[in-house]
Amino acid sequence: MTETIAAIATGLTPAGIGIVRISGPESYTIISKILRGCSRRNGCETGNGTVSSPLSWKPNRIHYGFIKDIDEVLVMNMRAPHSYTGEDTIEINCHGGPYMMRRILDEVLNNGARLAEPGEFTKRAFLNGRIDLAQAEAVIDIINSTNDNAARASVAQLKGSVSEAVKEIRHDILGLTAFVEAVLDDPEHYSMDDMDATLGSMDEGRENIFKGRSAKDALNVVSERIEGLIATYKYGRVIREGINTCILGKPNAGKSSLLNALLGEERAIVTDIPGTTRDVITESLVIDGLTLNIMDTAGIRETDDAVEKIGVRKAYEYAAKADLVIYVIDSTVPMDEDDVSIMKFINEHGIKAVYVVNKIDSTKSGSLPFVGAEQLCCPVSALTGEGISALLSTIRKMFESGDISYNSEAVITNERHVELLKEALRSVKAVIDSINAGMPEDFYTIDLMDAYKSLGLIIGEETEDDLADRIFADFCMGK
Ligand code: GDP
Repeated sequence: MTETIAAIATGLTPAGIGIVRISGPESYTIISKILRGCSRRNGCETGNGTVSSPLSWKPNRIHYGFIKDIDEVLVMNMRAPHSYTGEDTIEINCHGGPYMMRRILDEVLNNGARLAEPGEFTKRAFLNGRIDLAQAEAVIDIINSTNDNAARASVAQLKGSVSEAVKEIRHDILGLTAFVEAVLDDPEHYSMDDMDATLGSMDEGRENIFKGRSAKDALNVVSERIEGLIATYKYGRVIREGINTCILGKPNAGKSSLLNALLGEERAIVTDIPGTTRDVITESLVIDGLTLNIMDTAGIRETDDAVEKIGVRKAYEYAAKADLVIYVIDSTVPMDEDDVSIMKFINEHGIKAVYVVNKIDSTKSGSLPFVGAEQLCCPVSALTGEGISALLSTIRKMFESGDISYNSEAVITNERHVELLKEALRSVKAVIDSINAGMPEDFYTIDLMDAYKSLGLIIGEETEDDLADRIFADFCMGK
């Protein structure tokens, strides 16, 4: 029988309200053992039994009472399957002190529940079929989101945007597999060059990718769809983890001043997001729904000083890994070979860069140094703040993808998903290669089923040994 689990669902810092959550078949029995009532007629007396037995509670109600003599609480009850986990669920709203919440949790545990593992409530929602794996992963992303776009993409994923897109592609792959089987079974009537014969209209209301196409053309459509999803990850990663940004420039160009000016513009420092890889970070700031993780680096110049050399090398190393380089140019001094080497570096590595021409407060616009016409060039004064908001909107435009609407469309933000999509793409391409190479049909189905399986792993319709365990282990307690 399923165990009943419990955990503190809210943060372990003093707060107005804290929630202890119980899920499983014993939830109602447990609350009936520890909740003391408070009747309107007789006044509030703790320890005098419940007013109405929780076992007869109507679902989705709130009841007032006391958990023994520990705390005054509001208890919310949900009946299976209409709860987050899909099981009977009780949520005890108590005062939000860590000590209080622990004492109430102890009572719950002493009366038949076991402590939930991190993510176990969501895992149960998945195992009970309330949500699929991609939706479950969206839950943790929502909790961890640090800006509006990340939150919106995750909420869309929770609503099923990614799952729907993946399911449609899987559906088409399954149809293709069935078709190949038909060709194998009955080559007299079916041909890879014309799919119409077998599969008329597969879906109402959606493009039938088989209609009027050869199998190869249909495969190309499928592979384009997968590529389209993979392409969203470029932006999806950036909105989830932030833009890893490196400020480069010669000493005294105004890098630190610029950093301060940027932070002054938007003082929204965010915390580290688990799972992101950043070995150096000084500050994060949020601009209109995008997070910039700004790495501070040493000034870049030719030098014989051993320590400074290391700093310069590090600066280049960070810059090479960055999503964006902000190259600060001092407009009061002529450009020299150090600037040339920075520009060469940016071009050679193909890094997105904005060229910030600083100190415009003390230069006439006519004397701005030459900057390659194709580069994004922003004149600013880190000192006065002039041009800073224009710089921020330039950066935002560089990373914004106009054709993505986060509310409904699938944006891939999860590395696991993008890797599985790439695997599926390789398999689909392998089928196309086999057709081009004139291989026999039975080769096709193996790769098609591989693609089907890879996509299934995204939504959890296929599972690997400990896949769900690994995913839910990253969750926080009580979720
Ligand atoms: P870093 O070595 O690149 O980090 O440069 P700093 O930020 O330390 O700035 C070097 C010097 O340039 C300091 O004296 C700053 O006050 C000055 N500076 C920075 N930005 C500006 C600016 O926009 N206008 C003017 N006039 N001076 C600036």
